[in-house]
Amino acid sequence: MDRKNSHIGDLETHFWEHEIRCPCLKCRRKKVRVSSFLLFKLEMMITIIDQGLDFHKPVIVLSGNRCEEENKRIGGFPGSEHIPDPDGEAADIKVKGITPIKLGLIAEEVGDLRIGIAKWGIHVDVKPPSPSRFWVYIGKKPIYSAKIENESLLKFYKIVMEGK
Ligand SMILES: [Zn+2]
Ligand SMILES: [Zn+2]
Repeated sequence: MDRKNSHIGDLETHFWEHEIRCPCLKCRRKKVRVSSFLLFKLEMMITIIDQGLDFHKPVIVLSGNRCEEENKRIGGFPGSEHIPDPDGEAADIKVKGITPIKLGLIAEEVGDLRIGIAKWGIHVDVKPPSPSRFWVYIGKKPIYSAKIENESLLKFYKIVMEGK
């Protein structure tokens, strides 16, 4: 059931390099550099998600690493954590049957992650939460937690959704 069958760097993981790799043609043959701390945190999320299940629910990576050009092409934020420097430190993920906010709460439980809640899923990265630990994307525009509620993702999320 819960079989890790891939290695990225030193870490045994559920993810494959091609899931994390920048999707542009130029990066096709490049070695994937991704933060093992991030992968470790994603593995912790998988452990929580799979708790009590007799099968492994895949965590789908919508976007892992992006080179500068790719980040620009898709309209990512300049200096995005998705750009390897030298390792990629962010992943946009979704899980079938789990709402973005529920997935975000799992990420919060794991800890040491910044969490962005979107319609399509969540962004997680391992950058320090200075100043914001959380954000919610309203369309493409992020609303940051720092000045609103930086301690509880659920509280913050409710405040944002009420004010929308
Ligand atoms: Zn690329
Ligand atoms: Zn992202």
